[in-house]
Amino acid sequence: MARYVYNFGDGNKDLKDLLGGKGANLAEMTRMGLPVPPGFTITTLACREYLRTGSVPAGLFEEVEEHLREIQARMDKRLGDRGDPLLLSVRSGGKFSMPGMMESILDIGLTDTSVLGLAARSGDARFAWDSYRRLIQMFGRTVFDVPAEDFESELTGARAHAGVTSDAELGVAELQDLVQAYKKVFHAHTGRDFPQAPHEQLYLAITAVFSSWNAERAVLYRRQEHIPQDLGTAVNVMAMVFGNRGADSGTGVAFTRDPATGRRGVYGDYLTNAQGEDVVAGIRNTVGLHELATIDPRSYRQLLSVMERLEQRYRDLCDIEFTIENGKLWMLQTRVGKRTPAAAFVIAAQLVDEGTITLDEALQRVTGEQLAQLMFPSFDPVALPTPLTTGVPASPGAAVGAIVLDSAAAAAATGPVILVRRETNPDDLAGMIAAQGILTSRGGKTSHAAVVARGMGKTCVCGAEELVIDTEAETVTVHGTVLRAGDIVSLDGTTGRVYPGAVPVHPSPVVRYFEGELSPANDPLLAAVQRLMTHADHTRRLGVHANADTATDAERARRFGATGIGLCRTEHMFLGDRRTLVERLILADDDTERDAALAALLPLQRADFIDLFAAMDGLPVTIRLIDPPLHEFLPALEDLTARVAGAEALGQDPGRDAVLLTAVRRMHEQNPMLGLRGVRLGLVIPGLFAMQVRAIAEAAARRVADGGDPRPEIMVPLVGAVQELETVRAEAEAVLAGIGGAPPIRIGTMIEVPRAALTAGEIAQSAQFFSFGTNDLTQMTWAFSRDDVEGAFFSRYLSLGIFTASPFETIDTTGVGELIQIAVARGRAARPDLTIGVCGEHGGDPASVRFFHRTGLDYVSCSPFRIPIARLEAGRAATADATTSDSR
Ligand code: ADP
Ligand code: MG
Ligand code: MG
Repeated sequence: MARYVYNFGDGNKDLKDLLGGKGANLAEMTRMGLPVPPGFTITTLACREYLRTGSVPAGLFEEVEEHLREIQARMDKRLGDRGDPLLLSVRSGGKFSMPGMMESILDIGLTDTSVLGLAARSGDARFAWDSYRRLIQMFGRTVFDVPAEDFESELTGARAHAGVTSDAELGVAELQDLVQAYKKVFHAHTGRDFPQAPHEQLYLAITAVFSSWNAERAVLYRRQEHIPQDLGTAVNVMAMVFGNRGADSGTGVAFTRDPATGRRGVYGDYLTNAQGEDVVAGIRNTVGLHELATIDPRSYRQLLSVMERLEQRYRDLCDIEFTIENGKLWMLQTRVGKRTPAAAFVIAAQLVDEGTITLDEALQRVTGEQLAQLMFPSFDPVALPTPLTTGVPASPGAAVGAIVLDSAAAAAATGPVILVRRETNPDDLAGMIAAQGILTSRGGKTSHAAVVARGMGKTCVCGAEELVIDTEAETVTVHGTVLRAGDIVSLDGTTGRVYPGAVPVHPSPVVRYFEGELSPANDPLLAAVQRLMTHADHTRRLGVHANADTATDAERARRFGATGIGLCRTEHMFLGDRRTLVERLILADDDTERDAALAALLPLQRADFIDLFAAMDGLPVTIRLIDPPLHEFLPALEDLTARVAGAEALGQDPGRDAVLLTAVRRMHEQNPMLGLRGVRLGLVIPGLFAMQVRAIAEAAARRVADGGDPRPEIMVPLVGAVQELETVRAEAEAVLAGIGGAPPIRIGTMIEVPRAALTAGEIAQSAQFFSFGTNDLTQMTWAFSRDDVEGAFFSRYLSLGIFTASPFETIDTTGVGELIQIAVARGRAARPDLTIGVCGEHGGDPASVRFFHRTGLDYVSCSPFRIPIARLEAGRAATADATTSDSR
């Protein structure tokens, strides 16, 4: 028969799958000989069985009784005893911590008779009756869903009746009355009496904890945190100890280092004469943990030594819940503590300095997401006013602007604005693009606003439910404060806080360090970042290149650590003043006219490349030949139609507009994404690619003549068949052969069409390198157009769990990833020295970078600001195999 129950003494910290985090850590502390109240853990397996079958697995409660007997023996007390009752806590705890999501019930075992025993034995009737009323309240709420307000209103009534303001001032008689009132509330909602059999209380509590795994908020939380839904929770049953037994008792939380900054020292809070939940509930003011040194020096010293031992055992920051009962210290919980991104870096570096972990392990203690958070600008902490309200931190960053209540106003605004909406929908896109930040009163991390804002890298706070938005009156009201359209607010997308007025924004010190403006010498955070980045660079196998089109971007990319340009788009080189040249090219109806247009573009392109090669001297620069459909360079159909109609109505000659309109009509496509673009342009418009190739080669030759070391590569977009590539390549080689003084220039292709991935073996015969264009490859594999679908239905797909993350943010490893793996295998089989990279924005996404490492790519390429993130994650991926991670 399966075993469902483990004594604390039988488990250890590595059994989190089976015992949950809390259970595994209670077991570890018990094994270390630390003072943990006796108890046992019911496994997650039992919970999964319960959730699968709808009933408790056979034999479970027998096993529970067996282990309960051991607790009773060790405590020398019996559950429900009328003389000296043992009380129990029943606590949830899955593999991953889900703060506040599931339930714990304290003081199980109190009944109408055992409460008298507890009162007599403790000599403290008030304590006994207070514990009893807490039990009925917690049990009623958790096991039978009795509304919390119904108990609360009885409690408020009792305080009013007694003429006191705090629960602590209620006397024995009042608490006894309160118990009677609570029992009535319980009966009214459940149709039964509050259970007087302690073992029944225990069984009901256990099954309630099992069921709480599927509570709506727990399911939602897991979906957002990407925690699997099928793990189940463990249940920890342990003897109660009491911090509310007088002045020599109390309860507290402690951290072995400061979870905000990472600094070493004693951090935590302590509350005399209180139970654990009182600290969290904030009922009374806590004191700093260091004050325990005077309140109870012996327990304090003991606690410090326990903290020291826990750090040594876990080799990381630990957080701790403890209780002191009549001068005796008890450990109730520990775990590797959550921390801010800054603390994560600082602590990892400290632990290396202290000789506790290796640099490889230190890399596993930080994440690219944390580094990304450190690279956003933030509000000056000294200047922060009291927040107006707090919502869901949906997309990080700091944004300041004037309130606008509709998207048209946002799009029309001249200064920075914050778009404030109940929720957003696809019609709000233009307003979202124009705004500095987005604030909504409804929806969570997968709402439309959140998904689209993250896609744009724009600050967003959503679900700020206290905001009352009145679009008619153009006001936003929160707690009586009325804000009007035009009033300035500040949004912190990292914390979810919303501030009145313009809070001064601090550029990120980490970015300033990467820019070379700040020295890490006297700054523990920057020193830690430098140390870990250096190690990541030392260990990583993936190269990190930049997506950069201009010399300015290229220079920044270099400062941020890029060792090449993986994608230089040439589109922008056709915009601005050059648009008219492109129009000439498109409208050309003979070779002479077309050649003239191309000849005019050539020197302009060449000059762009010279600057770029200078900025990237000595490093590869992969230039993509022109990709978008050419009509994107012409005026929009609607505008032209209106202009021509307007001119005709006035009896004027529309002139060039009429010619353009005819061309735009001729070139109109139903699905431009699937139309005349990429390599197809090069094959249809004679001389276009040749001009670009010439500009590249002549620019390189010029750089060589000037003593530079240019390393251009030519990349052909949207290839689906090797024949396309061969044709373009023959043309390019003919051009290159005629230009002296340029270095050898490699020619390769993007792999962004599923057919290219599948025929990669053939394509590699003709390509010297591959670069996965994962944006197009994702669109084409899923058959959806990014521009249309992100706003239209991604939030729905995320909330349905069809996606766990947008496939444009994090590579879809099972679908798109499979195509990538196929292309890598077939490409390398055909050409073993094939260089393979990726140049979609996935190249800077932490999870995707790890996938590209595993898939054996040579480099990733991403926008300049993501380069440090890619470097760090590439280093983490390379060292992950050697170490194990506990950082979740
Ligand atoms: P959470 O995970 O929400 O912190 P816990 O299971 O840790 O929930 O329990 C809630 C509170 O009850 C905590 O403050 C904890 O310290 C306290 N508690 C749990 N078990 C006991 C016990 N056996 N004796 C005294 N206090 C306890
Ligand atoms: Mg806890
Ligand atoms: Mg593409």
